[in-house]
Amino acid sequence: MPVEAAFAAPGRFYKGNLHTHSTRSDAARDPDAVCALYRDSGYDFLALTDHFMAKFDFPIVDTRAYRTNRFTTVIGAEVHAPKTSFGELWHLLAVGLPLDFERTPPSEMAPSLAARCVAAGAYVAIAHPAWYSVTLEDAESITSAHAVEIYNHTSEVKASRGDSASLIDVMLAKGRRLTLCATDDAHFHFNDWFGGYVMVKSESLEPEALVSALKAGHYYSSQGPELAGITVSGDTLDVECSPARSVIALGRASTSAAAFGHGLTRARLSLDGLRAGGFVRVVVVDAAGRKAWSNPIWL
Ligand SMILES: [Zn+2]
Ligand SMILES: [Zn+2]
Repeated sequence: MPVEAAFAAPGRFYKGNLHTHSTRSDAARDPDAVCALYRDSGYDFLALTDHFMAKFDFPIVDTRAYRTNRFTTVIGAEVHAPKTSFGELWHLLAVGLPLDFERTPPSEMAPSLAARCVAAGAYVAIAHPAWYSVTLEDAESITSAHAVEIYNHTSEVKASRGDSASLIDVMLAKGRRLTLCATDDAHFHFNDWFGGYVMVKSESLEPEALVSALKAGHYYSSQGPELAGITVSGDTLDVECSPARSVIALGRASTSAAAFGHGLTRARLSLDGLRAGGFVRVVVVDAAGRKAWSNPIWL
């Protein structure tokens, strides 16, 4: 019986935030305080991803000193290059960069910068596309990206544009094999932390193992609900989760299936009607409206 990749993978789930800033770029707390906040709040890992830009002297913050035997950090950055359709600098999340990653030359365009991050070992996600109106054509140009942020918490808090599901669904419907992630992108100028995280299935808490699992899609994303299992058997999808008010399976265009109730912890949905679209992804919504998102399952 085929099990969704994260649940089939060996190891256990580790909770992490892939996207957050510090005083090394434009955020209000220093790296020490940011790492302590996540470490003391039940997170297993954090990627501090300051803006890799000339005006901040291209920081790749060395967070290795904040690692303990039950908390680790992944070296990363949010990298920028010209230009989206609306003339803005791109925002690309790169998690798993070397500390000596070379500065972005002014002539480097976003697709080649993303490819350079991938070649350097990073998991790369298109950050908060809904926040600054990244178009489908823009997003399709970043051919080496592994993922797109489906939820960016600071974009939700400050601009009510945290959710990028519609762009992702068009890309998936056109056959692009993406994964999706939820992040905080906290800057600490207002209450913008602990809103979106990933649960990564890995055999260890080593940074390299976490980055490999992210690239392989062995994770899900959440604002709070837990996914405990997803299994596809023929045209049947089984989901196990923490108590939910709805369990939804989404496919190409309008195709979907859902179960509704109070405190649902399992649901069996029919994939009849979704199979032709080639993929299904699962969303679980709890009584407070908080969501968990699986990665796409290719049928
Ligand atoms: Zn950004
Ligand atoms: Zn950011």
